[in-house]
Amino acid sequence: MSNIMFSPYKIGNEELKNRFIMTPAQLSYATDSGKITDSVIDFYRARAKGGVGLIIVGAVGVDPTRIATSGVIQLCRDDYMEGMKKLVNAVHEEGGKIFPQLWHPGAYAKPREYNGQQAVAPSEYFCMFTQANTQALTISEIEKLTNYFADAALRAKQVGFDGLELVGSAGYIIAQFLSGATNKRTDKYGGDLMNRMTFLKEVIAAVRDNVGSDFPIIVRLAGKDMIPDGNSNDDCIQVAKELENIGVDGLNITGGWHETRVPQLTMDVPRGAFSYLAKRVKEKVNIPVITSNRLDATHAQSIIERRDADFVGICRGLIADPELVNKAETGRLDLIRPCIGCNQGCMDNIFKGKRLECLVNAEVQYEKVKNLDSAIAVKGKQILVIGSGVAGAEYALRATTAGATVTIWDKDSKSGGQMELVAAPPGRKGFKEIANFHYNACLEKGVHFVFNKKATPDEIINLTDNGTFDIVIVATGATPIIPRIPMEDGAHVVSSWDVLLNKVTTGKNIVVVGGGAVGVETSLLLAEEGTIDAETLKFLFTYKVETPERLHELLTYGSKKVTLVEMMKKIGADIGVSTRWIMLGGLRRLHVNSLTETKVIAIHKDGVLVQDSEGLEELIPADTVVMAIGSRSNNTLYNSLLGKVPKLLLLGDAVKPRKAMDAIRDGFISVK
Ligand code: SF4
Repeated sequence: MSNIMFSPYKIGNEELKNRFIMTPAQLSYATDSGKITDSVIDFYRARAKGGVGLIIVGAVGVDPTRIATSGVIQLCRDDYMEGMKKLVNAVHEEGGKIFPQLWHPGAYAKPREYNGQQAVAPSEYFCMFTQANTQALTISEIEKLTNYFADAALRAKQVGFDGLELVGSAGYIIAQFLSGATNKRTDKYGGDLMNRMTFLKEVIAAVRDNVGSDFPIIVRLAGKDMIPDGNSNDDCIQVAKELENIGVDGLNITGGWHETRVPQLTMDVPRGAFSYLAKRVKEKVNIPVITSNRLDATHAQSIIERRDADFVGICRGLIADPELVNKAETGRLDLIRPCIGCNQGCMDNIFKGKRLECLVNAEVQYEKVKNLDSAIAVKGKQILVIGSGVAGAEYALRATTAGATVTIWDKDSKSGGQMELVAAPPGRKGFKEIANFHYNACLEKGVHFVFNKKATPDEIINLTDNGTFDIVIVATGATPIIPRIPMEDGAHVVSSWDVLLNKVTTGKNIVVVGGGAVGVETSLLLAEEGTIDAETLKFLFTYKVETPERLHELLTYGSKKVTLVEMMKKIGADIGVSTRWIMLGGLRRLHVNSLTETKVIAIHKDGVLVQDSEGLEELIPADTVVMAIGSRSNNTLYNSLLGKVPKLLLLGDAVKPRKAMDAIRDGFISVK
């Protein structure tokens, strides 16, 4: 990686050793009342040790009258300082720097997480994010809030933080004041953009009074609110210039608000898609600018090399791999465990009130608990793993780290197991990155791969009998189920897996049976066939060949008519909350006909006979029927080895078909 990424650069008087900044993540590892625990400290210590220049920890609550019950870290009273000091010391001990992100949710405070308290905001309105009404702040309440920010800032300085960030993005209270969409006040806090900045400016003045001129203050801003009547990128630039004028030391420019209907963080958001927002701000100010949202080390480098920003903010990339920065410094980008933007372990868990985990890194939240050096059972052992899917590969990687020698056999010609088909639908190619990482990291650790290798019980028993292998791991995955539905001879019925792997042809009229994640993804893939691709879109747009409306049509009308049939009430019920709305939006956009509470009665050559919840039957014309109703474990090999090899273990979908996150966790925890 180029030197510029590792050249020091200052925010205010504080010099950071490189251009990587870890942006805040809600961990939910603090106590319910928001006190720091050892898990929080271990999590951030690992990231500081991994080389990141600055950690911005947060969000950190400032209001002692509104403390979330969901474990949001607090600095709203003095009794929170002791824990914070331990956290700061841990990061400093590892050579890192740390800022808190001072935060007030305003309208975004869900009453159920605040003992039923109604949320406050600049004005009274119905908040789309919480689906609840807000209460308008009085002048004296605004003044109190300003003081809460200032008090928390003083505590931050006293416990040893190196600076602080005020969050004025994502739709929290400062953003609510800045935006005309949510600030309808007619006093000095409302009106035009400069008036709407009044609250932020008063907060900054009060904070500055308490921390002094040599303590860096940065402000995080939405590069564009991306909500109706919200601030534009030009508005953001105006705010940024004013903040520079009043002595703010840096700006952290992100994408839109939480309630925007433009995906911000999912896998389908192109890497660095919103960095143009920060770039435009950087062109207009002379203080450091941080850019963030869906960045990995490669895109980070390009942005900094082009001088489109001074720092890159990465959050989930550092959740997935705490060593991201160190690995980038040694040029081993191929060994970085990639954040794939799935949100399954992080955002989806947080929305469910659970602790933060990571799909690709099962070690998250067990930074100290699980020590692979003490995995004595595998140390020095010869291990045979059958299957190079994520469960088998993760096991191999962790076992070699613990001192074992591992050989992987795979019946296919390449590694990754089901990741290829999971990565096939539109916007899901991130899953392929896990397989690539596992392969590279396993090779680096000396794992020996044998492809196109059919595993037979006799050969395995021989190899364990003669001492070639001490432990056998069976991670043979799963196969799709074909249900017992009456089918007419000649009906063209295929499995969703074969469609995703491009192993079969499909016709013009398709019925997909099963509206779980796989059914949704397969429908999206089929419905997108025949639409224009990104390169064609760019070409047509650049030369103004078609109107934007016509281009939208070309992007959303494919060559196939797809109907998705689901027995239950909801389509995509097994898809995480952060992603489901986007995938359902995709079905609508691509004109997939989604039928719920509809049962398949029979499959004919010319269509699928279905019955709705009221018993009405209908024949949906179809020349191809795609089955997406689940899978069953491949455990035959395991059963035939039981009792015949010294140590045998079953992992991943071969135990029970589940999500990739469960399979990776299986691989991780089984190394003991
Ligand atoms: Fe990234 Fe998914 Fe891990 Fe979240 S759970 S950090 S999105 S890989």
